[in-house]
Amino acid sequence: MELDLRFESVHEGILVSGTANVEVTGECGRCLEPLRFDRDVDIQELFFYSDSQSLSVEEDEEQHRVENDSVDLEPVLRDAVVTSLPFQPVCREDCKGLCSECGARLNDDPDHHHEVLDPRWSALAGLAGTAAENDAATKSESDEREES
Ligand SMILES: [Zn+2]
Ligand SMILES: [Zn+2]
Repeated sequence: MELDLRFESVHEGILVSGTANVEVTGECGRCLEPLRFDRDVDIQELFFYSDSQSLSVEEDEEQHRVENDSVDLEPVLRDAVVTSLPFQPVCREDCKGLCSECGARLNDDPDHHHEVLDPRWSALAGLAGTAAENDAATKSESDEREES
């Protein structure tokens, strides 16, 4: 994470503003390919001095404070970055995702599709499978005979 921040002393505390450049890694919400991108996130947060009067006026958990002359940027950066992330990251806008039948990546194989078998032919497909199994069985039997 690269930070380009400006710290300004204001009446109530320290105003931190600038940008954070973060490298985001994850996976595509459609095809599950790993993805990685850079993002600039704007940061602007006022850290109140501990003795600042505004704290007593408006006791708010969201208020950040200057403690021991330093500010804790981590929660501020985390909030800013997390809220800027997309809910459904995709590797590219037109990502075709995965085949719902077999899980193949459709980006790699745009013509990928499945023959929708006519149920009347499925019995024949079964017969073809059995015939191939019989062939294999006969072959192994003959192999055994040759050995003995
Ligand atoms: Zn994708
Ligand atoms: Zn498929």
